[in-house]
Amino acid sequence: MRVLIVEDELRLATYVKRGLEAEGFTVDVALDGEEGLERALTEEYDIITLDIMLPGMNGYKVCEQLRANDIWTPILMLTAKDGEYDEAEALDMGADDFLRKPFSFVVLLARIRALLRRGKTERNPVLTVGSLSLDPSSRTVTKQGSPIELTPREFSLLEYLMHNKSDVLSKRQIIDHVWDWGYDGDENIVEVYMGYLRKKIDTPFEAKTLQTVRGIGYRLLDDTVRNSTDA
Ligand code: CA
Repeated sequence: MRVLIVEDELRLATYVKRGLEAEGFTVDVALDGEEGLERALTEEYDIITLDIMLPGMNGYKVCEQLRANDIWTPILMLTAKDGEYDEAEALDMGADDFLRKPFSFVVLLARIRALLRRGKTERNPVLTVGSLSLDPSSRTVTKQGSPIELTPREFSLLEYLMHNKSDVLSKRQIIDHVWDWGYDGDENIVEVYMGYLRKKIDTPFEAKTLQTVRGIGYRLLDDTVRNSTDA
């Protein structure tokens, strides 16, 4: 397990590094925010401990930048005992846990192990239904590995269907989730868009994953499993 310690107090960093190495971890230390960010962006870590009060770029900024760059390595934020920063803020910024300074090494180790067990918690996980995959962060869609170009509305529609795979969704439900709040136009717009989507995600693959359930609504099926409710 590889740990990055971002900490400007050299003595503390060295103490934690030695302790973790004695527990079998591989440890890198960055002594300021910029260096920490740079390392975390270019190398793979299993966990990052991040001090908040750092010269240059503070811990909040580092955390925010990492999440914005789709780095979901668990982050344990180290907060000062009676610092001006709020711990809730640390979690808002995308940290996974926080530990108040001064801390005992045993507690730090326990927190690190707990976070490692939990693993990465992506805020925007890639959705997959059979051979179809949608990445909300990069806004890309592929089917059987081939990229599919969608308009923003088609993308939102597909995202909603994938979140609710196999469920039958009514036109009203779909409008409420995909169209702007307060849309009171014709519900048949859904049918039109289902047609557009089918032409992109089904027709070229000779698939029938996007089904119309007469009188009820629509559902998206997994093309890689036989569905017993299929007619
Ligand atoms: Ca500090």
